[in-house]
Amino acid sequence: MNITHTITTSNGETVPAISQSEWLLSIEQKEANSRIYRAGAHRNPECKMCGRKMSEKASANATRVHMTVNLDLVPMTASIGSESQGYFPVGSECAKKVPAGFKKKLGA
Ligand SMILES: [Zn+2]
Repeated sequence: MNITHTITTSNGETVPAISQSEWLLSIEQKEANSRIYRAGAHRNPECKMCGRKMSEKASANATRVHMTVNLDLVPMTASIGSESQGYFPVGSECAKKVPAGFKKKLGA
């Protein structure tokens, strides 16, 4: 996963960003993944990147990524104000692809 561009934060800093073309699977593949789940788990949270279901517990402890309203991934510490869509859980396999600084494991 490569850094594709930079964005300017709300306090005027320039920070690296990763566009969705680097991290998002095709919508079709993501939807197919989201349909694979164990019995009773259809409402479980999904990995934001690949759509695979996670257990509630895995999601609560999952690595988070910081996403802009334009679906860019940005450093966890970037202050982007209303450009931030928030922090989302991703599965452990997807988290491995995300560069350091762009992810945070809860409790770590
Ligand atoms: Zn995933």
